[in-house]
Amino acid sequence: MSVLIKNGRVITAVDDYMADVFIENETVTQIGKNLEMESDETIDASGKYLFPGGLDPHTHLDMPFGGTTSADDFESGTLAAAYGGTTTLIDFAIQTKGQSTLEALDVWHKKADGKTAIDYGFHMIVTDLDDDRVHEMKLLADAGVTSYKLFMAYPGVLYVDDGTIYRAMRKAGEDGTVVCMHAENGIVIDEIVKRALAEGKTEPKYHALTRPTRMEAEGVHRAISIAEVAEVPVYIVHLSSADALEQVMLARNRGVHAFAETCPQYLFLDYSYYEKEGLQSISTDHCPFCFKDQKTLGIDDFSKIPNGGPGVENRMSLVYNGGVNAGRISLNKFVELTSTAAAKTFGLFPKKGTIAVGSDADIVVFDPNRKETISVDNPCTHHMRVDYNAYEGFEVTGFTETVLSRGKVIIKDGDYHGKKGDGQFLKRGLYGGMK
Ligand SMILES: [Zn+2]
Repeated sequence: MSVLIKNGRVITAVDDYMADVFIENETVTQIGKNLEMESDETIDASGKYLFPGGLDPHTHLDMPFGGTTSADDFESGTLAAAYGGTTTLIDFAIQTKGQSTLEALDVWHKKADGKTAIDYGFHMIVTDLDDDRVHEMKLLADAGVTSYKLFMAYPGVLYVDDGTIYRAMRKAGEDGTVVCMHAENGIVIDEIVKRALAEGKTEPKYHALTRPTRMEAEGVHRAISIAEVAEVPVYIVHLSSADALEQVMLARNRGVHAFAETCPQYLFLDYSYYEKEGLQSISTDHCPFCFKDQKTLGIDDFSKIPNGGPGVENRMSLVYNGGVNAGRISLNKFVELTSTAAAKTFGLFPKKGTIAVGSDADIVVFDPNRKETISVDNPCTHHMRVDYNAYEGFEVTGFTETVLSRGKVIIKDGDYHGKKGDGQFLKRGLYGGMK
């Protein structure tokens, strides 16, 4: 199987040039001017950008939480991602307390195996790591799971204490892997929540009002400090406030391998935050729960609302429109934020995250002029299995037109041409491509 893409403007994190791209089977084999070889399929990309497929390193598909399960499973979630120009996800497997992390990985493999439209990997959420279990982290790394996530919040469910965080970080540092942190002072926040409920403050808005940004900054500072001593790269997930970002920047300035991602909801649903510099990646934390029957679990008590929002499908257009079109970031930076940086951090570069000879042919043909209004009712912008869109009514210019996943055209003219199970599990390498 071969595909020739003609006349595209190839954009990577560092390049910007006009070229034809020739793909044989799953990989890019030639890039050049006026390529004339025979191909099974030819795509005219005149006037379009060719971006490396998006990489979303933070999703929660088919995830149990708060007495329900996230609404997208590995079939619907990866399909929605593909429509939006994302060709790789890294989802989170979760160790329940007392369970081996290797067993937990098996559970998540069963959820995803044979169902996905695009390639995927797993991080492992570690909830229980006594001394007898620490060796499992290397076994996970050998199985291609080279990053772990620890929580400083949700005591009794996901929370781990600082000793466990240090233990995990030290081992990850020795093995060349990465630790992702949900960083906020969840113990203090739970006290604030208890007080609010006792005072009759139960509406959903108190979810936000009980989470002072100083408590996020404190968690970020603590996570990075422990990582610095444990000598491990640390990746702060879904960073949401300027106070917390300041802590990341201070650490980076003294040479710590500290990274942060943010998500469209923190960029676009609170405009005051957008001007901040210094973030490395934009994921979605796609964690969809429907309003009907799911979010309403918390209608009388905000602390029972299943946390999380959908976004995996709309990330590329939102960041392009709000970043590139608004003159805030360059095209190269757009690619870095939506694909390359995460591919590098999480051991997938250069297989993923760029357009280059030998790389997987995960390519998005992107129309910079196409306008769409994001809506749950717009069949072009909403394939997520969730009954609302957080960006309802947002107008975007710049939209994914055609998507290739490992050389196969899976989205074209608004239609899906792939099949369930096309996506493969990705065994990821060590941090930053280290050996
Ligand atoms: Zn998350």
